[in-house]
Amino acid sequence: MTNKQGSAPGQGQLGQEQQHEVLIYNAKIVTEQGVWDNAMLHVKDGNIALLDEHNDIDAVKLSSGAQQIDAKGSWLLPGFIDVHVHGGYGADFMDSNKEILDTITGFHVKYGTTGMLATSMTAPKADLDRVLAEVNSYMQTDMPYAQLLGVHLEGPFISHKWPGAQNPNFIAPPQVEWLEEWHQLYPQLMKQLTLAPEREGALEVIAWLRDHGIVAACGHTDSSYADIQAAANEGLTHAVHTFNAMKALHHREPGTVGAVLTDERISAEVIADGLHVHPAAIRLLTQVKQQQNLLLITDAMSAAGLGDGDYELGGLPVVVKNGEARLKEGNSLAGSTLTMIDALRFVVREVGVSVEAASRYASGNPAKLLRMDDRLGSIAKGKQADLILVSPELEIERVWIRGSEIVG
Ligand SMILES: [Zn+2]
Repeated sequence: MTNKQGSAPGQGQLGQEQQHEVLIYNAKIVTEQGVWDNAMLHVKDGNIALLDEHNDIDAVKLSSGAQQIDAKGSWLLPGFIDVHVHGGYGADFMDSNKEILDTITGFHVKYGTTGMLATSMTAPKADLDRVLAEVNSYMQTDMPYAQLLGVHLEGPFISHKWPGAQNPNFIAPPQVEWLEEWHQLYPQLMKQLTLAPEREGALEVIAWLRDHGIVAACGHTDSSYADIQAAANEGLTHAVHTFNAMKALHHREPGTVGAVLTDERISAEVIADGLHVHPAAIRLLTQVKQQQNLLLITDAMSAAGLGDGDYELGGLPVVVKNGEARLKEGNSLAGSTLTMIDALRFVVREVGVSVEAASRYASGNPAKLLRMDDRLGSIAKGKQADLILVSPELEIERVWIRGSEIVG
């Protein structure tokens, strides 16, 4: 099911000489208008300059140094955008520094992720201060691998009843003050915050997030159906790792899950690794959320890419066995060892969705959630050339970011 060899992070680097003109032909391209079977795409100056359904290579004027790539019928998809990922290849966003961030982004780009939100854990405020500062300064540099698009704060305003693998000692009451402070320091950095809407003060936080263009997401929550309705009225638009660490559906009190399933204002993330959620429950999500409101995420922890053994997540000891990560104490599932291409393969093979639909879940919908769909998340003329070439067996063959080949 997985494809994790644990080799060193990405081969190419952005900003080096690979950034040039590329013509990719004989590709099965997932476009906004559907799948084009034998099509062609022209990349210039980091963007998609031309998209041609008829593979008419001779019609394109190429400069002398342009590279031509015969895709031999492989899929050409928009790069994946992972809005919920804690780390990989031994590194954790909570320990952020340049080397750690290179390791995480260099690992996940090999599995097709071209954009990601650095996701924090429930932790003391001073630790979160440091993570935000480190991620912010990294984002000012030439990021060589997958691009950090901002930060997803998972907690600390969550429920004591549903900590999952979050450290319960650091759960804090919802408060706008911390967010105000971080927003002053780094106005563009926070993109998503996960909280428990039933907690006192949460609705005020949700309204603040809405007013500042930051995604308000429910997760690690004991919210009733009515709590989520009230939160959505204030601007809640998203649910993290749907079904995991939230109040389950009961037919007389539909709970968080029931509200997320039925409220069209709320998009839903799912961890599609076959361990966190049964394939039938994912199928249910694909039916109720249709093509527009479902997102694949990894929720990957540092163990992703490294195999079984002892690890740490947010300061808590974790044991990974057969790719399944659980807290040593209490046995809660603790993040995943998933990559985005694993998740796409899982929903295609085990849930039975098309590659086109899975691509929307993994790229288009996260771009839309982050309001970055004007330049990211789909293959269309004028958009940023963040592209992945994927074999018929759904293995990553090549990855480009802004037209530069990072993996190939
Ligand atoms: Zn979580």
